[in-house]
Amino acid sequence: MERVNPPRSRRQERAPAEPGRLPLLPAPPPYRMPADPGALLAAAFAEPAVPEQPPSPPPARPGPLRHPPEVYRELEAIYRGVDRAIAALGPRCERRGLCCDFDRVDHVLYASQLEIDYVRDHVPPARYLLPSGNACPFLHQGQCTARAVRMLGCRTYFCQQGWEALGAEIYERALGRLKALAARHGLGWRYAPALELLREESS
Ligand code: SF4
Repeated sequence: MERVNPPRSRRQERAPAEPGRLPLLPAPPPYRMPADPGALLAAAFAEPAVPEQPPSPPPARPGPLRHPPEVYRELEAIYRGVDRAIAALGPRCERRGLCCDFDRVDHVLYASQLEIDYVRDHVPPARYLLPSGNACPFLHQGQCTARAVRMLGCRTYFCQQGWEALGAEIYERALGRLKALAARHGLGWRYAPALELLREESS
């Protein structure tokens, strides 16, 4: 069934946490905004003078990928821009793994179908179809086991107070590029809770 795009937040907040639920705190100290975040962002998203061609992750299985390799190379280039922006702006992660256990933080992770296809083509199904409640199936002992291929929302979310606006800015820029990529290759566009999309293949 086709869905209308929900708001484009990586972690769409649900109802406030009930009493007794684990709060996100203790959180890292507030984010310290650099002097000119706009310039850092623009530089991070600029095309490199010499195109980067780092190796792509190996496919998870033999046989054709869900999309041509050039689509995935473009997706990886978008992710690299995001990762450069994050590195330049310096939000801090304490690696507590809380934000990937969605019931604990009352968030929903959204992703596009293209991002999920990329994950499925590079991670064996046994890793993402494991029953995991409402936690991301890639979360293991507080660590992400799909880090190289993780979704846009995973790359931009940090729980530091004061990071939200910059994180949203990076997310929106990259999401626009993802949509343009999908349109350019005639892929259509679908955007839904990531766990829902990951589990669809098993039904
Ligand atoms: S893919 Fe990795 S970073 Fe993203 S929600 Fe899952 S465990 Fe967390």
